Amino acid sequence: MPNYKIEYRCLLPHGLHARPATQLEAVCQRFSASIEWCNRRNGRCANAKSVLALLSTDTLHHDVCDIVVSGHDAQCAAHSLRHFLRYELNEQDDSAVGQNSFVMPRNLRTSHSLIFPGLAANTGFARGQLVLFDVPEPSLPVDLAVEEANEQQRLLQSALAQLQQQLTAQHRQASAQTAQILRAHLSLLSDITFQQKLSALLSDSPTLAHAIMQLQRDYQTQFMASDSPYLQERELDLRDLCQQLLALIYPTWAKAKTLQLHTASVVLADELTPSQFLSLDRQHLQALLLTHAARTSHTVILARAAGMPVLTGMYDSRLTQAAGQMVWVDANAGFCLLQPDAIAERYYALDEQIKQKRLQQLQICSQAPGVSADGQRLEIAANIASAPDALLAFQSGAEGIGLFRTEMLFMDREQPPDEEEQFQAYAAVLTAAAGKPVIIRTFDIGGDKPVAYLPAIAETNPYLGLRGIRLYPYQETLFRTQLRALLRAAVHGPLKVMLPMVLQPEEVIWARQLIAEEQAVLQTADIPHAQFSLGIMLEIPAAALQISAFCPLVDFFSIGSNDLTQYLLAVDRNNPQVARYYQSAHPALWILLQQMVLQAQQHGRWIGLCGELASDRRFLPLLLGLGLDELSLATPQIAETKALLSQLNAGQCRELLTKICECANSEQVLASLNTGSVAEVRSMLSEECMTLQADWRNKAEVLKGMVDTLWLAGRTQQALQLEETLWQREEAYSTGLGHGIAIPHAKTDVIEHSAISIARLTHPVDWGSLDGQPVDLVIMLTLNAQQGADEHLRIFSRLARRMMYDEFRQQLRQAPTAAALCALLQQELEM
Ligand code: PEP
Ligand code: MG
Repeated sequence: MPNYKIEYRCLLPHGLHARPATQLEAVCQRFSASIEWCNRRNGRCANAKSVLALLSTDTLHHDVCDIVVSGHDAQCAAHSLRHFLRYELNEQDDSAVGQNSFVMPRNLRTSHSLIFPGLAANTGFARGQLVLFDVPEPSLPVDLAVEEANEQQRLLQSALAQLQQQLTAQHRQASAQTAQILRAHLSLLSDITFQQKLSALLSDSPTLAHAIMQLQRDYQTQFMASDSPYLQERELDLRDLCQQLLALIYPTWAKAKTLQLHTASVVLADELTPSQFLSLDRQHLQALLLTHAARTSHTVILARAAGMPVLTGMYDSRLTQAAGQMVWVDANAGFCLLQPDAIAERYYALDEQIKQKRLQQLQICSQAPGVSADGQRLEIAANIASAPDALLAFQSGAEGIGLFRTEMLFMDREQPPDEEEQFQAYAAVLTAAAGKPVIIRTFDIGGDKPVAYLPAIAETNPYLGLRGIRLYPYQETLFRTQLRALLRAAVHGPLKVMLPMVLQPEEVIWARQLIAEEQAVLQTADIPHAQFSLGIMLEIPAAALQISAFCPLVDFFSIGSNDLTQYLLAVDRNNPQVARYYQSAHPALWILLQQMVLQAQQHGRWIGLCGELASDRRFLPLLLGLGLDELSLATPQIAETKALLSQLNAGQCRELLTKICECANSEQVLASLNTGSVAEVRSMLSEECMTLQADWRNKAEVLKGMVDTLWLAGRTQQALQLEETLWQREEAYSTGLGHGIAIPHAKTDVIEHSAISIARLTHPVDWGSLDGQPVDLVIMLTLNAQQGADEHLRIFSRLARRMMYDEFRQQLRQAPTAAALCALLQQELEM
């Protein structure tokens, strides 16, 4: 039998670390062929069916490896592996955060609080009691009696099974990122070399504990020798598994290592394993301070998924001595703070007020229907992957579920979910929806979403192969089971079911036939069930061009822009080597989208869009311009999308769409998006920018307060930058005009809507004015950089002229309301 050789150059920026190695191992495990992986740089070779062995090859970015496949199904295995390495072995982006982001806010520069800079591995602000997570050096449990070999095996097997169960249960309930890490741990646990090494060590060890500890030390030596910090960090994952096994086998020893939190806490640790993190009471845990800069560590990824601020590189021993004290973690600015003085107290109190206002705004926005500034409706729904996701989606303001990717229920397990399990999941989503629309997509297996228990099909190009509805005739029982579960669930609310990867009307006719048959089965068995409406994904260009042929057969359409883009532009959506061709701004895509929506509307069919395009804020004006009925996107983006939508003018968006469809390429489209005006035109004067009684105590507070007000009013997204621009001008010369008045000003790109804002200060502040008088009236001019220079000068000079008159100054100080202030300025500045 011939051997097959594959050459692979590692393009993963962090090398072949645990998660990609886990994916790779899973592919290799599907075949009985033996697969050997050799790293040419260091000559290390390993069995590719073991994650640990793969990690031991220390495969780093740009290393070239030879893979030899031999044995019974070597040809198939080589095909799959080649395809996987070329197209699917992808990297999670862990590098997005973690810059050294220490920025001392202007307002804190005079504070005497103790400030400890760190590296923000996740942003956010939190405060709590500083609690040390002081894990003693792992040591053997004391008083261990020598164990019989049989007893050791029994204990070990039972602990392995128990841990596997625990991790699997956690995995089922976990969010996507957490699940991925737990999956990596699960595969380490069932790894052949892990188990083989452990068995080998057992024969020389008096107790199981000795063997596990030795294994832990061996791996520690091996991983710490790697040149890649990323691989070094995997040592923590293995230590985590070893410690969990020990804890299961020797429960009394485990007790010492669990930390109970009783109040809002910030945990300071040298390092924390993923399971230690998951064991902490999330109700009380507010933030993490870690000594080691492990921004790619699985613990940090978990904390990020939980939305928790994390600072790493916290070495200062004064922190350790401060256990029990209150600590404030400002991971937005990149530091934590002890012993807050009045200045810090005040700074964070003001900051908190702004955040609360923003939360209220987003909360109001999220619960309102999606609608543009000029009243065009666009329903904002959520994409989900499990029943628990639905509850969160509705709490976050989803107006429906636009896509439930049911294949997620079928992945990462040994058997498909049965009818009952599926029924429970679908019914739970419909119950959570309480009458709101729910679109459940039948399983879309294949392409980049294989499942282990279906026979592996060697396909040269799986994206063009047996995926979506094309797989159903080969897995008819599976499809029929899902249809029965859906028919039964439909009793719990209005249900829309959607078929993926449909190319031709015959596929819908066939599916309808099966639905009718399964309905009859339920009818005969007297099982409660109900009808659902049926739609299709529009993700194959041919179907997209033939919408009228589908209209008599379907009730609705949803555009799968991820696949539509990959098939239209002939570019693999997951291949980083061709990522630059995957252009959501390509005019051809928008021409097609425009045509699709028009056709669906002409036939009176509902049409939504559920690909990633929906959550790219750059394209929201074009999506609104299309006239879609719905956008379905990730839950965390719902509130923000509704807020952005409410500022757009649909008429202008339609014009912009027409314009970009005439562009020659993506660059031109993006340029038009940057310059085209799609926001509802806003007057420079608005009541929300007038603060009649500002309790700000110094110049820094006034500038921050006024910039925050503009941010809340949606006139800038980059408050810190705007503040800095204003400060640069103040540092060149003070804008204090005298007579108690200051006119700070800036003309900048970070202002999206120009504004004149006013703050009347209850306590006059020093502004460095020429006449030495404190300032109690601040008139701030912030202009968009695109706005003509003349406009800037015109307003500025009029304002300066009017300021000469005592009467005008008095009117500004005494106007009874924000509306009166706006009217006064409008009249006096002839705006
Ligand atoms: C799509 O293709 O846009 C889509 C939503 O489906 P998936 O990403 O699951 O293929
Ligand atoms: Mg798709």
